[in-house]
Amino acid sequence: TPLETRLLLPHTPVTFPEFEKLQTSPMTWLITGVAGFIGSNLLESLLALDQTVVGLDNLATGSRRNFDEVRQWVSPSQWARFRFVEGDIRDLETCRRTCDSSQPDVVLHQAALGSVPRSIRDPLSVHSVNVTGFLNMLVATRDTNNSRFVYASSSSVYGDHPALPKVEDVTGRPMSPYGASKQTDELYAAVFSRCYGLQTVGLRYFNVFGRRQNPEGPYAAVIPRWVSAMLREEPVEIFGDGETSRDFCYVANVVQANILAGLVEDPEAIGKVYNIAVGARTSLNDLFGLIRDKLADSRKMGACDAPVYREFRSGDMRHSHASIERATKWLGYRPSHTIVQGLDESLEWYVQNLSDETNRTENHT
Ligand code: NAD
Repeated sequence: TPLETRLLLPHTPVTFPEFEKLQTSPMTWLITGVAGFIGSNLLESLLALDQTVVGLDNLATGSRRNFDEVRQWVSPSQWARFRFVEGDIRDLETCRRTCDSSQPDVVLHQAALGSVPRSIRDPLSVHSVNVTGFLNMLVATRDTNNSRFVYASSSSVYGDHPALPKVEDVTGRPMSPYGASKQTDELYAAVFSRCYGLQTVGLRYFNVFGRRQNPEGPYAAVIPRWVSAMLREEPVEIFGDGETSRDFCYVANVVQANILAGLVEDPEAIGKVYNIAVGARTSLNDLFGLIRDKLADSRKMGACDAPVYREFRSGDMRHSHASIERATKWLGYRPSHTIVQGLDESLEWYVQNLSDETNRTENHT
């Protein structure tokens, strides 16, 4: 029988033959950053696939509210297969204890401090979580028998290299401490696979969006920030002339890539980094029109003013567009959602959750 993938791919019932292994031999997954946007989406899908999940998070930017929501989407017996460890990856002992006690088959390392502007303002904090914390998790995973380390990298590693589309082996100089931290992570992962034979897979996410992505605060990502502004009938700000473009990737695609990376058996596929995106480019001006029209169609908001153009932000790349050929070839990755399909699924969530999200952010700022 085809596997139930409703939660993972609600509108596009793609069946992944690779996932069927999970039914016959369920696995244990350790998700760091499990209370965050991507981590909680991974949690939801893995529990729905009857996996055992241990999560580690210090709730710096993530929230227990995300767990409440995941819990509503899975059965009580699936929920019972989740154990949460509140702890900080900057502490090696916490990483070791979590790995020792859970003996994960796969670590999905998501915990980090995101946002380019945050890293420009506070490079030390970003370094300690994104690099020292990453190294701690590598060491702890290395010392756990046979665990595989799948980790979140970022399109920011392409830095100032102008080539489009981005192919994995051609990177430039990072343009922010955040980009430097992710490049450093990739170096350490490669070294751990050479020195210790650790199985690592790096996933370079490109502008991920979807439900549970925080719309509030100075470091919010563009899609949730704009949706939130439009719903409140506040002005939408565009940094630059709006012709900046991104390869916006719905979170279901990222979930799919993580599970495939955890399962892939071909030794040639291990030890590599992969672009995870859709393989298409959308300018910020087009994105603005897409979101405005979709919200207006569903009569969720009144008239929306033209965007306000501000100065281009330092550290930002001008264009970003991924080649996803490598992930397709080695992981069997095939994005289930375009940007439009992803917006169709996530806008409704923002409409329903906006006031809750505001409370949540106020609680942890
Ligand atoms: P998020 O902020 O929602 O999630 C990060 C989680 O890590 C949070 O729950 C936070 O509390 C946790 N965390 C932070 N510091 C920690 C620490 N010291 N110890 C333990 N937990 C800690 O962000 P996200 O968008 O879900 O990002 C997940 C990963 O994906 C990150 O590594 C990020 O760099 C990467 N990434 C995200 C995007 C994107 O567009 N969202 C793009 C590229 C890469």
